[in-house]
Order: sequence, then structure tokens, then C-alpha cells
Amino acid sequence: MFSQFALHERLLKAVAELKFVEPTPVQVAAIPLALQGRDLRVTAQTGSGKTAAFVLPILNRLMGPAKVRVDIRAVILLPTRELAQQTLKEVERFSQFTFIKAGLITGGEDFKVQAAMLRKVPDILIGTPGRLLEQLNAGNLDLKNVEVLVLDEADRMLDMGFSEDVTRLSQECAQREQTLLFSATTGGAGLREMIGKVLKDPEHLLINNVSQLAEGTRQQIVTADHNVHKEQILNWLLANETYQKAIVFTNTRAMADRIYGRLVAQEYKAFVLHGDKDQKDRKLAIDRLKQGGVKILVATDVAARGLDVDGLDLVVNFDMPRSGDDYVHRIGRTGRAGNEGLAISLICHGDWNLMSSIERYLKQTFERRVIKEVKGTYGGPKKVKASGKAVGVKKKKTDKDKKGDKKSVAKGPTKRKSVNRPKADTPALVSQDGMAPLKRRKPAVSE
Ligand code: AMP
Repeated sequence: MFSQFALHERLLKAVAELKFVEPTPVQVAAIPLALQGRDLRVTAQTGSGKTAAFVLPILNRLMGPAKVRVDIRAVILLPTRELAQQTLKEVERFSQFTFIKAGLITGGEDFKVQAAMLRKVPDILIGTPGRLLEQLNAGNLDLKNVEVLVLDEADRMLDMGFSEDVTRLSQECAQREQTLLFSATTGGAGLREMIGKVLKDPEHLLINNVSQLAEGTRQQIVTADHNVHKEQILNWLLANETYQKAIVFTNTRAMADRIYGRLVAQEYKAFVLHGDKDQKDRKLAIDRLKQGGVKILVATDVAARGLDVDGLDLVVNFDMPRSGDDYVHRIGRTGRAGNEGLAISLICHGDWNLMSSIERYLKQTFERRVIKEVKGTYGGPKKVKASGKAVGVKKKKTDKDKKGDKKSVAKGPTKRKSVNRPKADTPALVSQDGMAPLKRRKPAVSE
């Protein structure tokens, strides 16, 4: 029950209005400590209810009678526009019975309109680091009296190259009394460094480790001979699975566009979302998906980050994500807040070792599914090591293999000795979305 928390009655009223009955584990763990003013470092998955875990304590702090606003009192930093927009919505839902006002600053929106909004001084400012810094540098933003700073999806902000921007913005909030840092993963050295810089004596709440990921989601693999065969399997799945809404993930923009084109040609109501799309397209895609006008979204990782769409119950990994963390984020799109979902990864021989290292990382074994209507010849490696990886059997290539390889891996599988190597058809250190340079991360390291 939410009444177990020392929250203002107007906030409890909003919670009841939203029909939240039981707090989620991250809310149970984080809300009381956040209400005490503690700095927190929280490791919790997307979909765990972490937004409410920081929004409710912030609102509780800011509760009070209506008065002229002179200071921005809380700042919430997030890696992507969509996530920032969703967080704004969540803040507005929880603050509906209060006088608290929130504002949004993200790239892709009019700079002057944002500056005008800042002149009205929102109590809570939500935004992405790059544009916030631009507004700060233009003299439109004063963060000197910020009381609470939240870094949400901090690991992803670092991956997207926002480390310096986040550091600078947190330095601007010099008088802050509380900092809350949320990440979906425990992160690496970059995150540890950030934690050391921005948090004071934090409590670390490790809510659910990745092995408990999206318990409501079944995770399956279907083996495929090559990309053309993957397309046939995808068609079969979209035509035969029962789902309200589906998301198809690819590793490249080109593949996303290709699949989108094929779906539209088959008269599916689909949309494509990747970094080549402008902000209007992105908004439209998400709105249509939410309203149900679009049933299938084809997306790359960064574009789909933080999507929270009701009824998204089928995720297809057309390409296997390059790391366990990316897998977690993709699958986090479904099975949210206790709903059921199905995640299916299409696995060619070149994907097998990556898939099995992700299984080890998650401490899970994906269900092997055979769809007899579209069954190919590849069914997984003949021999596997104890680790689950394929034993390197030297096999004479058939013409069919070569044809498949050309489509999926430019340099061919014999050169792909390591599963950590990025696929040859994508640049190694550039985000597929062209949004920001990606640091090369170690994919799928077992804990
Ligand atoms: P989040 O992890 O914050 O993105 O939340 C995922 C989804 O769960 C959002 O749609 C929230 O509105 C919803 N949610 C969060 N907390 C609860 C709760 N205690 N009961 C029901 N739904 C919730």
C-alpha cells in the first residue's frame, strides 16, 4: 500500500487516481530513504517503476501553497528525448492535485520557446544533458538553487557520451541537498567515477539483478540460415503470433528501413524509429503506437530507449543486440509492470556465440523454438562447449552459406573469432543512430 509511505495526501490521491495499488520493489526500497533526504544509487531495470520512486519523494519535498516561483528546485537528467517526455508525463500525473509545475528541455525543440518556458521558472526541470547545457551557456538557465538532482539511466547517459555534460550540470547544481542516481546496470569504471563525483555517501539499492529480468516475459530463440530467412521467420511471427503491439529491433538503420519497407508493402500498420528520423517523426511514431494506429514498430536501440507503451507484448530481435545490457533494455520494452510478454531472438550461426554469452550473463537459458512452417537447415552448432559457445568446427562452406554471410556479415564468419567484435556492417565506435559517439563496451561479460 502506498499509504505506508509518509507522502502528502495529495500525492496519495494521485497515486490512487492512477490505480497504483501495491508499490513495486524499487519503490518500497527507495521512497522511504529518498524522503529522508539520502543520496541514493539505485540499480533497477526499466519497467521496474523507478520513475515513481524518485518523482514522488521530489514532489513531497516541493509540496506547499501556491507562490511565485523564483528557483528551479529539482532537475531530472535523462539520456533521450522520449524518456524525458515520458518522465514529464509521469511528473504531471503525480502532481495533478498540487501547484507544482514541471518543464521539459530536450534537443529537437524550439530553443526560444524553451527559453520563454525557463523565464517562467518551473519547479522541476526535466531534460537531456546536451540541450540543457546549451540553454545554460546561453544564460537562460540558473541552477544555483536546485535542491535535488536526479540522474536517470545514468549508465546510458555515459554510453551516449554525456559524461562531461552531466558532470558540468551537476556542478551547476552546487547547492543541492540530494542526488539520486538510477541505472539499469551496475555499470563499469565510468559509472563508478561518476558516482564518486556526484553522490555523497550514497546508499546502494540493488533492486533486481538482470537474471530476474522481466519475469512476465518468455524468452525464445529461433534459428535462421541467413537474413533473408530471418525475414521469412519474422513474417510468420507477425502473421501468427497473438499480440497487441510488436517491436522489431535491428542493429542498423539500413536494416530497420529495409524491414519497415517490407512490412508496409504487406500492408502492416508499421512505423520505423531510428536516429535519421527527426523529432516530429519520433513523436508521431510513439503517439501512433500508443493510440494503436500503428501495431508494429521497427527500431534501433537508441531510438527505442525508454519507450513505455502499454500493450507492447512482442519483441523480436531481428539482430541479436551486441551486449547483455542492450538485450535487457530491449526486453524491458515488454512485460512491464507485471504484464506478460514474449521476446524472440532470431539467431544465425554468426549470432550463436553472442546469444550464448548473453544467456550466461543473464543466467538464463532461452527457450529453443522450432517453427516448422519456416524451418531452415541451421539449428545451432553441432557441438557446444560447456560455456554454451559453439566448438569451432571447420566446415566447408556451401554456396548458400556464402550467400547468407554476405547479407549479414560483410567480412564473413571465419574472421569473426571473437563475439565481442562489433558486426562488420556497422561502424565500431559510432552510434547507429548518429546521435552521439558510443564508447565501445564489453558485450555480454559474465558476472
Ligand atoms: P518505470 O519503470 O518508471 O518506467 O515504470 C514502468 C510502468 O509501470 C509505468 O507505466 C508506470 O506508470 C507503471 N508503474 C509504476 N509503478 C507502478 C505501481 N506501483 N503499480 C502499477 N503500475 C506502476
